[in-house]
Amino acid sequence: MDRISLLKVALRQRAVFIPENQVVETKEISNFAADFCINLYKAGYVVSEKLLHVINSLPEKQLIEIYGIIKSALGIDKNWTPLVKNWIIPTGESRADHIATAIFNYFNPKKLGVKAVQMPCGHYIPEGSFPIERYNGCPFCGTPFEFSDEKISGQGSKHKILNLWTEKDLQKHFENLLASPVALEATQKDSLKILFKNFTMPNDVKIVAKETIILVVDFLLKNGEIQKTAEYFSSPTDILRYLWYNHTNQIQIIEPKTLIETKKNSIGYSWEKDSSHNWVKKIREDVMAKEVAKLKLHYSRPMCKIVAFWLNSLKLSAEKICEIMHPKREMWVRFIRALRLTEFAKKDGFNNLKKILDIFYRKDYTVWQGEINKLKQSCEIDDSKKMLMLLQQRPGNFARQLFSLLLQSTDRKLVLDKFLQIADQIPTRLLITLGMYAENYFTRDEIRTVKAITGKNKRIEKPRLIANYSDEELKTMIQEVKGLYVSVLKERFSKLPAEGKTMYIAPELFDIPLSIGERAKTIQDTDCALQGTIFKPEGNNIRLFLQWGVGLPAQHLDMDLSAAIIYESGETRECAYYELSFEGAKHSGDIMHIPDLIGTAEYIELDIQKLRETDAKYAVFTCNAYTAGTLSPNLVVGWMDSKHPMKVSNETGVAYDPSCVQHQVRISASNLSKGLVFGVLDINKNEIIWLEMPFSGQIAHQLDNKAVQGLLRKLAARAKIGEILSIKAAAQNIEIVADKSEADLVYDYNWASDTAKVSGLLLG
Ligand SMILES: [Zn+2]
Repeated sequence: MDRISLLKVALRQRAVFIPENQVVETKEISNFAADFCINLYKAGYVVSEKLLHVINSLPEKQLIEIYGIIKSALGIDKNWTPLVKNWIIPTGESRADHIATAIFNYFNPKKLGVKAVQMPCGHYIPEGSFPIERYNGCPFCGTPFEFSDEKISGQGSKHKILNLWTEKDLQKHFENLLASPVALEATQKDSLKILFKNFTMPNDVKIVAKETIILVVDFLLKNGEIQKTAEYFSSPTDILRYLWYNHTNQIQIIEPKTLIETKKNSIGYSWEKDSSHNWVKKIREDVMAKEVAKLKLHYSRPMCKIVAFWLNSLKLSAEKICEIMHPKREMWVRFIRALRLTEFAKKDGFNNLKKILDIFYRKDYTVWQGEINKLKQSCEIDDSKKMLMLLQQRPGNFARQLFSLLLQSTDRKLVLDKFLQIADQIPTRLLITLGMYAENYFTRDEIRTVKAITGKNKRIEKPRLIANYSDEELKTMIQEVKGLYVSVLKERFSKLPAEGKTMYIAPELFDIPLSIGERAKTIQDTDCALQGTIFKPEGNNIRLFLQWGVGLPAQHLDMDLSAAIIYESGETRECAYYELSFEGAKHSGDIMHIPDLIGTAEYIELDIQKLRETDAKYAVFTCNAYTAGTLSPNLVVGWMDSKHPMKVSNETGVAYDPSCVQHQVRISASNLSKGLVFGVLDINKNEIIWLEMPFSGQIAHQLDNKAVQGLLRKLAARAKIGEILSIKAAAQNIEIVADKSEADLVYDYNWASDTAKVSGLLLG
């Protein structure tokens, strides 16, 4: 058992993993345990009573090991030195300083007769420009030279409670993750992979999420359990998805051309920082060539045989299989060739495969969607009835076309009736998604933002048919669609036995949306919070931080931290490297080159009161890659908050205190985007909303304000956990009580923070 990895999994759920055989409760506090608790307290944690009793009997070595995991999750040993010492007092550097220094360095400085100091990077800083005594590096090129291992701790005012977890809890968590009806978040996927390695696969868990199936099959293959894998595939699309995931590490089937286009776009440049266009062109071409080469398919003979076995074992009819393969025909042709499937089809025992390939190449199958489209064009009432009948054969497809059908149809009631007849075959999450998006879809002026498959947000024009309807009619349509999921959900819940007579729902759960649709791609090492979670700052100052480049050699790797302040007037101002300080916002200085291996940091301090006084409405937290390419893997962003003052070191500028961290996320390796919005501070309400919105711009300025507002609106329109619980209570005749201690069933933030449990709600 890999104790270290399991400690990481437990920490994400605010727990410490201790093997069952070590769980011995001792009330007398050992010296080691006391030291351990003091260290944890400084890092922002306290331990539950049970955990305290257990750690009293643990050896020192193990406590050091546990603390090491927490330390590394919090990044305590990373380099947190910014460019400017005590940056909370602005240096007053200006664009003029940059221009003067640029001119001075361009000409032969010795001939100019101006006093100047030469920095280790070679740049001359002329006297009277930058106050160099305030910097830890070169203010001109943003290369840091002075580093400090200064640590600040213990200023936090809110301590998180750590609980005890044993194998039993991990096993339960494992099962919850496997059973999740919705696609797992990046953090959950990572945990699942660790749990696979340490626990035996439970037999009685039904896996429904397509993406989870891929992970399971992958794991079984690695374990040599080939026969078992076939039972997880129910359609050729499942197989294609698996192959594509293994090939590109993308869980969705993105067509190769789209993937390459994304890479191409993410290679940015700026005339200011990189003057040579040819250089950029060269990099672009190189990256492209590499990407194209990477997408070529190569399979070993054993793998070809496995895929042949999978297709051969599918339970659907060969015609049906071909019909499903049709929309991705081009990809299938490539895969069939690369996997030498025609060769296997000739062998004994692969009769099914032979039949499939025959029909596929002869195109001897009807294309369902083609039929539907033909019938859609017709104005005959019989044809539209025939179309609805066809749609009823594929409930999922029906659901996806429901909105456009409602707009197009002359008989809306008929469409809804036919849909309701098959609604019980549709996964709950899809029904809820429909309810959520109806508001966005059937509203006249709203901009629809959808997350494109590559991770970027796209703004989509409204369907034209909307113009044919009155506001009243559109409102009715929204109500009708929303009504669908409430009624279906009620029916589903009412069939299940009630687990108690009374229920408590914590008020904050009415703010947190169910995590369906928008998947978080970042990894949360310390606290797995749900997107949309609202954090209430305790102090007046919010400190954003960004740390990147750990483990990488010294190089030009420019990541930027910025905060876009949106004012009542609609104006926007960014606190970023190009405007380091203004009323209510201060930046710690722009670092463009990372030092060897230890990484580097940037901070922004926001003063909520001051921002309010200047009529600021929102502060949007962003980080982005200035250097060619996407956001650097293992980059960490987050924010700090405390009732107590948060120190900025006078000598070094270090300003990170783990005990004040309210939320932090790490960029995972599969990230394809260039920028990320990671939080929005609503200044009037004094709350921070944790969300994750990729954007493609190089700097915060390119962030579309309308897109941010659109996202906030969308977040507000989503079904909240509290609402679903209320539906459950009503359907099962459970009384809702205001007092936690009086309830049989308690649903609070702690419960909701186990995302797998929340998803489990949808299984009902
Ligand atoms: Zn320099």
